[in-house]
This record gives sequence, C-alpha cells and structure tokens, in this order.
Amino acid sequence: MTDCLYCKIINREIPSSIVYEDQRVIAFRDINPQAPTHVLVIPRRHIASLNELSVEDDQLVGEVVRRASLVAKDLGLAATGFRTVFNTNRDAGQTIFHIHLHLIGGRSMGWPPG
Ligand code: AMP
Ligand code: ZN
Repeated sequence: MTDCLYCKIINREIPSSIVYEDQRVIAFRDINPQAPTHVLVIPRRHIASLNELSVEDDQLVGEVVRRASLVAKDLGLAATGFRTVFNTNRDAGQTIFHIHLHLIGGRSMGWPPG
C-alpha cells in the first residue's frame, strides 16, 4: 500500500534497522523504543489491523509470532522474558495501520498495561 509507512520500510523507501527478514516476514527496531530492546515484527503483506484478519492469514500470523520468539532468543531475551503486543485501533493506541507485533524486553514490566 503506497501510503503505509511500514510498506515503505519494506520497500526500502524509508530507512530502518532490520534485524530479520525473509520472504514473508520482516523485523526492525522501533524508532521510539519503550525498553532496551523494542522490535516490530510484521508481515510483508499489508493487513491494516487484526480486525481485517481472515482464515487465510493464520499461517502468516503464526510465522510473525514464532519469528518474534526467535528474534527474542537471538537478542538474549528468552530467559529473562519479553512482552509481545498487537495494538488494535484507538483504545489500544494503534497509530500505524499495518499489523505489527511489538517485541519488548530488557527490563521488567508492569501489568496491567496503562
Ligand atoms: P502502534 O502504536 O502499535 O501502531 O505502534 C507503532 C510503532 O511504530 C510505534 O512504537 C512507533 O515508535 C513506531 N514507528 C513509527 N515510525 C517508525 C519508523 N520510521 N521506524 C521504526 N518504527 C517506527
Ligand atoms: Zn503496509
């Protein structure tokens, strides 16, 4: 999608710090990190939010989640722990409408989230 920031990152029209990529999934560092490690894991295919998922996306979303766990392991977060979050629409604070799994770690976190 031409006016999507993450699609521009995928297409290298906007620079980013990529930590992983394959044919379907890409992971890059959040520009405004909320913890020592903050990575966004996204599908290359543009899907606006979890509200737009269909059964055909099950495999892709599974890959995004599993990739987050592998990136967490690579970055040394597996033992200490990490948080993974999909924000959806206004109440959750979604600002970019291309689904992304936040992978956050490197400090202890409170619950419930604000
Ligand atoms: P959300 O609020 O869940 O939609 O998350 C959007 C995230 O994208 C925020 O954590 C932003 O800091 C992050 N972000 C915005 N622009 C960029 C960018 N150019 N590169 C990397 N991350 C970005
Ligand atoms: Zn997009």
